[in-house]
Amino acid sequence: MSGESETSTRPCHKEGCLEPGKYRAPRAPDVLDDFYWFCKDHVREYNLKWNFFDGTTEAELNAQMSKDKVWERETKPLGDPEARAWARLGVEDPHQILGANATQNPGKGSTGNRRLPPTERRAVDILEVKDTASKAEVRKAYKALIKVLHPDMNGGDRSQEEQLQEAMWAWEQIKESRNFK
Ligand SMILES: [Zn+2]
Repeated sequence: MSGESETSTRPCHKEGCLEPGKYRAPRAPDVLDDFYWFCKDHVREYNLKWNFFDGTTEAELNAQMSKDKVWERETKPLGDPEARAWARLGVEDPHQILGANATQNPGKGSTGNRRLPPTERRAVDILEVKDTASKAEVRKAYKALIKVLHPDMNGGDRSQEEQLQEAMWAWEQIKESRNFK
């Protein structure tokens, strides 16, 4: 259904995703020479939806995909990545928050005493992992959390969307961090 193409320079087709679109997936069952390009995670998601919506038209599939507000929201704010990340959490002035929260609110997940930037401290709290966890361990915790929170996984329940946004933000902080091996 899809193969990796190292030569593709397109971005992932999923709205809001910044990964390179290295994996292709046919747009419709009867249009097999016209492709969407996705990153690894999203081609998997697309294929899942494809199987799930087997027999539906491309328009229906697109409507279903664009209804996914989780991804829509990511494309809105501009500016530097950190401000964007905080904006997603509903924080307009990250520095003010960081100054207060970094010291006063260590959070439920803080068990270690590592010196971490406030964003990463917040991230380990959100993902409820130890600050000494490896990147692989954090990733595992993140994946488990996403599974519980994602509307595609929990039968369309969107009440946990904010938590899902937080978890996604948190994983981005750890994923890019040199403090986690
Ligand atoms: Zn993607």
